[in-house]
Amino acid sequence: MNGVSHLVGGVTAAVVVGIHSPAQLAVVVVSSLLSDIDRQNSLLGRWIPVLPSVLEHTLGKRTLTHSIFFGYCLWLLLSVHSSWQWPFLIGYVSHLSLDVVTGRIALLWPIPWKFGVPLFGIPPVFVEAAAMAAWGAWMVLGGYNYFYLT
Ligand SMILES: [Zn+2]
Repeated sequence: MNGVSHLVGGVTAAVVVGIHSPAQLAVVVVSSLLSDIDRQNSLLGRWIPVLPSVLEHTLGKRTLTHSIFFGYCLWLLLSVHSSWQWPFLIGYVSHLSLDVVTGRIALLWPIPWKFGVPLFGIPPVFVEAAAMAAWGAWMVLGGYNYFYLT
């Protein structure tokens, strides 16, 4: 999935479960994009110097930053600001969930197995397009009501 799709997926998941605080939504935005810092051309990766290139050329794409281990470590780090842990989890899990239906990720890194759930052999670009179309239809039919700020 591309960054915009991850962003839409993460923020939508967050507002549906009741997260409406701007600060918490900012955490969701970052956590829904964070995993792709292992690519230099990702939405977040292009703003971070050196690290995406190092990750991409040493560990490869969709490895460490797409793992339960990485998410758990960051979740623990966020315990200093516990109101950010739940939003982080929503964004991070939404990213992994969307990637697993459009590709394969090393969920158990450092174990090199990669997991993916191909949707009936439909090419990932069509899965992403269908997801965005469904999101657009949901918005038109009233989904926008979830997007209010407190
Ligand atoms: Zn990803």
